Amino acid sequence: MRHLCYLLLLGLCSSLPAQVDEIGANKEAVLASVEEQSETLIEMSDQIWALAETAFEEHGSAKILADYAEEQGFRVERGVAEMPTGFIAEFGSGRPIIGILGEFDALPGISQRTQPTKEPLEEGAGGHGCGHNMFGVGSLGSAVAIKNLIEAGELSGTIRYYGTPAEEKFFGKLFMARAGMFDDLDVCLDWHPSSRLEADVQSSLALVDFIVEFRGQAAHAAGDPWNGRSAVDGLELFTTGINFQREHLQPTVRIHYHIQHGGDVVNVVPDYSRIWVRVRDSKREGMLETYERVKEIARGAAIMADVDYEITLVSGLHEVLPNRTGGAAMHANLEYLGPIEYTQEEIEFAYGIQKATDSPLEGIDGSVQPFKETRENPGGGSTDVGDVSWLVPEIRLRAPTAPIGTPWHSWAVVACGGMSIGHKGMIHATKALAMTMVDLYERPDLVEEIQAEFQERKGDAVYEAILPEGPPPIPTGGN
Ligand SMILES: [Zn+2]
Repeated sequence: MRHLCYLLLLGLCSSLPAQVDEIGANKEAVLASVEEQSETLIEMSDQIWALAETAFEEHGSAKILADYAEEQGFRVERGVAEMPTGFIAEFGSGRPIIGILGEFDALPGISQRTQPTKEPLEEGAGGHGCGHNMFGVGSLGSAVAIKNLIEAGELSGTIRYYGTPAEEKFFGKLFMARAGMFDDLDVCLDWHPSSRLEADVQSSLALVDFIVEFRGQAAHAAGDPWNGRSAVDGLELFTTGINFQREHLQPTVRIHYHIQHGGDVVNVVPDYSRIWVRVRDSKREGMLETYERVKEIARGAAIMADVDYEITLVSGLHEVLPNRTGGAAMHANLEYLGPIEYTQEEIEFAYGIQKATDSPLEGIDGSVQPFKETRENPGGGSTDVGDVSWLVPEIRLRAPTAPIGTPWHSWAVVACGGMSIGHKGMIHATKALAMTMVDLYERPDLVEEIQAEFQERKGDAVYEAILPEGPPPIPTGGN
């Protein structure tokens, strides 16, 4: 890049694309830093990919990230918010304080080799079917690029990386949010592996998870069934009630359940049953309304079966509060970076994945998607980033780490996330995140505009984590 300055001095830059010298020295520096780190970042991503540790078990993965941050000169605090695998890495002082989120947990049972046909690396082991190996590393790489500039006196303020565990199951960010760990941030960023390259300005679904247990009276199923009261009858009436209720719900509502206990043997009237229920809606209010309705259905089912019932809240997520001002800044940087280019081998790999998953043969798309309208009721999933987005304006990015139409949370995402398709998406995301952070440090007016939009969207809502009292459910025991 220094090279460019000489060209400019010599007046020889006219043949260069105009945009090359428009981004400024700090953005050039973060791009160089990401390039410099790229080998290490890819190595760390592959290590975390191979470890494939699931929610709250990510000891090795968290250590890789926290150690790298420490080596780079960050102040690292491990085991935050009562989570052994949660950590915070910070550098610099004063405002602005810019946060960036990193995830690193895998999903159980989807171990996979880096090949376009299904074959586990280790039978029954976990796999990074949501690409969090890249998510955690990419975010940290961009934080390091910013740290270098703060250290060199080119930018002033604080950069803070959040190592957020257990996104897939226990929602680690909720415990950090409840502990007030996002409260002093000016702006926060995150990205997520995807099959498209775009500034993400869509919301997500709010959800609540809860357990319903029914307790009755055991008896011989043939000998004296009149002495029994079946907990499974209660459970069946409950799910029947839910399924009748569906017709009268808004199209934005989703209800899923997982029957966890339905008796042990056929010749005993079961005295215990247990079901995990998840209610979602595009807005928290609608979700909470349906939650109350479903709780009433449980009560009715218990009355009909003449059994006792108990409802235990597990946790809940807020829908993402989008920020278009921040999204537009991210989009401009994506436009500058341009598309991700793929080799013939990578394109073949993508087609292989699509063949193996019966997806349309559309290949892989590294082009920058247009800056989209924010939809009122987006479909899709939920994320604990939603909770952060009600505490601090959140700028979000999606970058392709898998071909178009790849079934998510599947072996196919695992396969791509451990090879060059995933690596390229991650490095590209790292650059876009770092460039957008440069905008935030250099332009207090942009931060103000982002915060003004946040205030307007948030209104007078007061954030409260949807969590029962007590510490996070850290698994104990020896396996
Ligand atoms: Zn994910």
